[in-house]
Amino acid sequence: MEERVFNFSSGPSQLPLPVLEKAQKELVSYGGTGMSVMEMSHRSKPIIGIADETVALLREVMNIPDNYKVLFIQGGATLQFAMVPMNLMKNKKADFVMTGYWAKKAADQSKAYGTVRVAATDEANGYKNIPRLDKSMVDPQADFVHITSNNTIYGTRFTEIPDTGDVPLVADASSHILSEPLDVSKFGIIYAGAQKNMGPAGMATVIIREDLIGTPIEGTPVYLNYKTHADAESMYNTPPVYCIYICKLVLEWLKNLGGIPAMQKINEEKAKLLYDQIDNSKIFRNEVAVKDRSLMNVIFVTGNPDLDKKFVDEAKKAGLITLNGHKAVGGLRASLYNAMPVEGVKALVEFMKKFEMENK
Ligand code: PMP
Repeated sequence: MEERVFNFSSGPSQLPLPVLEKAQKELVSYGGTGMSVMEMSHRSKPIIGIADETVALLREVMNIPDNYKVLFIQGGATLQFAMVPMNLMKNKKADFVMTGYWAKKAADQSKAYGTVRVAATDEANGYKNIPRLDKSMVDPQADFVHITSNNTIYGTRFTEIPDTGDVPLVADASSHILSEPLDVSKFGIIYAGAQKNMGPAGMATVIIREDLIGTPIEGTPVYLNYKTHADAESMYNTPPVYCIYICKLVLEWLKNLGGIPAMQKINEEKAKLLYDQIDNSKIFRNEVAVKDRSLMNVIFVTGNPDLDKKFVDEAKKAGLITLNGHKAVGGLRASLYNAMPVEGVKALVEFMKKFEMENK
């Protein structure tokens, strides 16, 4: 096998090696069928089996209550920015917690369907904190309150789920789903693009409370109505079958590892290794409020764009790739999704020490 790198990309990102190896073994013929998963009808028994098992595994590892549906919908998290208001915004009012780039993108889509109110924001501080939100700050007439529960670009995350009373809480959990426990019962909808902690790009997973399904605003296309996908068990049309299959392998891998609580421990260990290195460094710094730091996306800077670039280039030569920050903020970022092994983070920390010695 060709040597693999440690890929710190924010997504699509590294997948667990045992998952890739299993997929490779099953690539040409799946389970004695003489066919690849990619070649099978989505109405065939093996594919329906794969989809059912994927949903069952997700329900098990995330402890999803019975009154929630799990849907796989193409169009990524971005399509959910529009599907959420189309399906929920009957009073034409939505509250958003603004925590950066993706929250803003989501809010901009809801503006097409009514009034968007900023319930809380940390824009003035450059999104270095997660703003506090309590029930008194929520418009009781709002159709939903939207949060981005982990902020991929600004490196923050909600460590406490806000209480929004009777107003459904909607979370974009794209960049931290499956990384730490989430109490699903506190949410109306949790959605996440697959290409970070779940599998390859190609769909979003939507976990939705049943009472929110089936009352879209007038004019909603059939395909964008959650009911369409719920009634058809995510098989209304040809779904991204291979993506669902890889998600199943990822969920099996996660379950064998001890599930989300075990994964959380490993993620905390990885994040601590890197944040400790940054906090003790004379050239790197992270300005995010410590209590709000993401376990998944660790952002840091030297303060000198040329030095940042040198770091990215030299790290790449050492097999540590995609350490540049998002174009909106620059600087550096290491995404430590579930599939990034502790050894990858240790290798990065050792590289940072060496780089610091050479660039004091
Ligand atoms: N939300 C968040 C928090 C993200 O990090 C991203 C992608 N990086 C998106 C939404 C957009 O996801 P997609 O490409 O699946 O539409």
